[in-house]
Amino acid sequence: MNKEDKIRQTEANTKWEKRKYSSLILENYPNVLEISLDLQLDYPNAFSIHKNHFTPKFNPTDKAYFEISCINKDCLFSDLDLDNEIRNTINQKLDFFKGHKICNGYNTFSCYERKQGTCMTRLDYEIKIKYKNAL
Ligand SMILES: [Zn+2]
Repeated sequence: MNKEDKIRQTEANTKWEKRKYSSLILENYPNVLEISLDLQLDYPNAFSIHKNHFTPKFNPTDKAYFEISCINKDCLFSDLDLDNEIRNTINQKLDFFKGHKICNGYNTFSCYERKQGTCMTRLDYEIKIKYKNAL
């Protein structure tokens, strides 16, 4: 295994463990019936813009883990995590919140080695929450 593979393996293990030890949605947010996300990802590079759109849904028995995979396949240490945004939305008892984030991961392995050059994938997100016992 070369150096890049080792770093990528370490990152993958860290995220896998974080997911594994995450609580369930029903434990963290007992009043929540469903969390739906609308995610638009844009990764511009020199040649093209990669786009991806998806709409995952989470039920109470799913893990409360909301790290969004970066669509730049060379990205290292992506940080597109909606954990804080979802927690704040629920704590404020809102049923809708939207915003955007830029990935601060390293664009490529050589960017990681130089410690400069962020990925810049853009995530536009919408969070919709359905609560139990909603009027
Ligand atoms: Zn990224």
